[in-house]
Amino acid sequence: MKKPIIAVDMDDTICHLVKRAIYYNNINFPTHPLQYEDMVHWDTRHLRHPDCTHEVFYGRPGLFEELELYDEYVVEELRKLNEVYDLIIVTAAEPSTVMEKWNWLQMHVPFITIEQFITCKRKQLLTFDLLIDDGPHNLIPALESGRKVICIPHPWNRQQLEQYDIPQMSSWKNAKAIIDKILQRAAVRS
Ligand SMILES: [Mg+2]
Repeated sequence: MKKPIIAVDMDDTICHLVKRAIYYNNINFPTHPLQYEDMVHWDTRHLRHPDCTHEVFYGRPGLFEELELYDEYVVEELRKLNEVYDLIIVTAAEPSTVMEKWNWLQMHVPFITIEQFITCKRKQLLTFDLLIDDGPHNLIPALESGRKVICIPHPWNRQQLEQYDIPQMSSWKNAKAIIDKILQRAAVRS
């Protein structure tokens, strides 16, 4: 039987990008300090120093390689998911960050093979049964096309979480059990 495909985002889903970008922003632009809680919109340009463009904020060489794991459970849960599901890592990347992201995966979750690593911004074009992501622009189209989703809650998706009925996971603890349940329910219904 074909295994269900589980697509998992990287940034702010299995590692902390925004918190690390804020850390460097606050060192380099102390007149425009940011806090994680301020990041209530997907586009946070208006909060930053005019010189702190998207390229500056997210473009620090090596940034994507040094990101911290989302929490103490994420590696083990991904390992468990990888054993029973068709797990793919789907992440939007710039050409310059593809290698950094692959290196990060090799360092923290080496059981993910190159066949499971997909860099892609238009995630709605992909076939998957369940998407785990923090981006409303990815989650809502997936939800509306009838796929299962799990949202990793952050200030920038709080509004959508209130508006849509989206399951959320603020920790990766028991993620495999939660996902099993969501997919079993979906299988019973279809
Ligand atoms: Mg993300």
